[in-house]
Amino acid sequence: MAKKTEPKCSFCGRPKSETLALIAGLDGHICDSCIFQAHTILNEDFGLSQNYEEPKNKKSAKSKPQLKVLLPQAIKNHLDQYVIGQDATKKTLAVAVYNHYKRINQPPATDEIEIEKSNIVMVGPTGTGKTLLARSVAKLLNVPFTIVDATVFTQAGYVGEDVESMLTRLLQACDYDTPAAEMGIVYIDEIDKIARKGENASITRDVSGEGVQQSLLKMLEGTDVLVPPQGGRKHPDQPMIRVNTRNILFICSGAFDGIERFIAKRVNTGSIGYQTSDQQLVERDNLIQYVTHQDLKLFGIIPELLGRLPVLTYLEHLDAIALKRILTEPKNALIRQYQRLFQLENIELIVQDDALDFIVSKALDYKLGARGLRSLCEAIMTDAMFEMPTQKPQDGKFIVDANYVNQKLAKIKMSVFAHQ
Ligand code: ADP
Repeated sequence: MAKKTEPKCSFCGRPKSETLALIAGLDGHICDSCIFQAHTILNEDFGLSQNYEEPKNKKSAKSKPQLKVLLPQAIKNHLDQYVIGQDATKKTLAVAVYNHYKRINQPPATDEIEIEKSNIVMVGPTGTGKTLLARSVAKLLNVPFTIVDATVFTQAGYVGEDVESMLTRLLQACDYDTPAAEMGIVYIDEIDKIARKGENASITRDVSGEGVQQSLLKMLEGTDVLVPPQGGRKHPDQPMIRVNTRNILFICSGAFDGIERFIAKRVNTGSIGYQTSDQQLVERDNLIQYVTHQDLKLFGIIPELLGRLPVLTYLEHLDAIALKRILTEPKNALIRQYQRLFQLENIELIVQDDALDFIVSKALDYKLGARGLRSLCEAIMTDAMFEMPTQKPQDGKFIVDANYVNQKLAKIKMSVFAHQ
């Protein structure tokens, strides 16, 4: 029974004795269960995550975050530490990112000049560093970053994901800090897989190809998008978060298998002529460097989408020299990672030069770019990583030479790598 003078929760009327805690405010009280309910409402209606913390300085958290604008050279220098080769892409990416964030930070324009967004499309074979480049840029700028696969999207009304769900992931990547997400980077992989079939494909939209391309247009250009906080299809009862995409940088990428045929055709018709057959052979390997928006259009990307991806860049096949460097040079190169793992067991891992060459030659066979290196190294190191914690080598050294590599790789079948 509540005492007459006993304070009550101003929301539910429960007396103090029936609560776990009753917190006093200026004009009333709130009990623990009403706090819990209010918290649930905040979660559900505004998409605040369970561990959302009220910003210490609310005002500054709500205001537009200031980005440090790094000079293109600094961006490239940073990328050089993680990504081997691909100089052309690094430069293009550095300039595009620099301009993008310069545009965001610029004071309000007093004249008619409006700097447009510099969304990027990267073309290049699998495992050549496209994702790594985008990820490294986002890390450097310390902006929210998400990777999505274009093939999971279908146009609205069909089974599959709405394109808006990529913004859900971006929000999740920064704990639902909307102003931060609005300056993030979205990396859309496999954009080539939503190409329409053939340039003169029928005007009826296909669900997974052109329809999806159409639904990307507004988002890439910059618009307010209502985003379901937990992802999934939009439905009327679900509370939404409004995200403006004007300052979100979109980086699309794809292998565009077979695009060389369009490039070759154009090149052969004289726009980039080469004379001798020898020269032709050399150039054929590197045709990708001549890729243009026109080739992407022929591949099946609609012109409206290409218009919103003004920066086009390409990645080259990684040759043996590049693959070898990838094994040892980057800050977190694979061999360094294994060396660290063994070091933690007080074992010194020494990978000899001929072993590196052997691994590289296998990776080239599998045609997976640098992607194959990791699986190869795992296959080579697993036995030792299993045995050595219990049976340490007497001299504390684990030496890997070409013989050892050959022996370990002979045991695995090529099919292990075929599906990657
Ligand atoms: P994709 O071009 O298919 O997006 P990724 O960037 O995902 O390829 O590369 C796959 C893996 O191969 C990465 O984790 C990275 O370690 C390695 N890699 C690929 N290209 C390079 C490169 N140019 N420099 C350093 N590492 C690379």
